Amino acid sequence: MSAANEKSFYLTTPIYYVNDAPHIGHAYTTVAGDVLTRWHRQRGESVWFLTGTDEHGQKVMRTAEQNKTSPQEWVDRLVEDAWKPVWRSLNIANDDFIRTTEPRHTERVQKFLQNLKDKGFIYSGKYQGPYCVGCEEFKLPGDLLEVNGEKLCPIHSKPIELVDENNWFFKLSAFVEPLLAHYKANPDACQPESARNEVISFLEGGVSDLSISRSTFDWGIPVPWD
Ligand SMILES: [Zn+2]
Repeated sequence: MSAANEKSFYLTTPIYYVNDAPHIGHAYTTVAGDVLTRWHRQRGESVWFLTGTDEHGQKVMRTAEQNKTSPQEWVDRLVEDAWKPVWRSLNIANDDFIRTTEPRHTERVQKFLQNLKDKGFIYSGKYQGPYCVGCEEFKLPGDLLEVNGEKLCPIHSKPIELVDENNWFFKLSAFVEPLLAHYKANPDACQPESARNEVISFLEGGVSDLSISRSTFDWGIPVPWD
């Protein structure tokens, strides 16, 4: 067995957000992963290629409502009628297709969250601030566009919503120093160098704790202790 054969590779696309059918950008990313996977296989290397769909969040819930159906029925239909057929017709060589509504995913997420909570990395707090439903993401006030006195998401150019709710927060800030020390001691941990520099400058720029739950709607994975 050659040295190359002893290596294993894991490839994944982003787990795509499915409020609608796939577009050319999804196809581009998935084909790129497919090419890399086939290249490894051709070299006789062990490789595992994952793709899948992120099916939770307010945007899916609202799109389902607009189409007069439940979120689960909406994503089931999209995945079976739109997503999987596209990958079949492009002959994508993925080993697995994961959906965030599958029990194997939701159970693992809950276990992961509970573990973080037990270790003291999750706390309850009040979140007030701008939220973009298009991004499914909280925004920093300084990141918004202002057009005619209205605050817009810089990615979607659509009005943001002001969210005021009690959420669970992840102590991301507690990991800044250990991560910086890790990247310094292990320069190969993140490659290429340009990506590592980006991560390091992000960390050095100061990192806020992350709001990781929503309390005003329920199309998501339930927080196990709440
Ligand atoms: Zn947005």
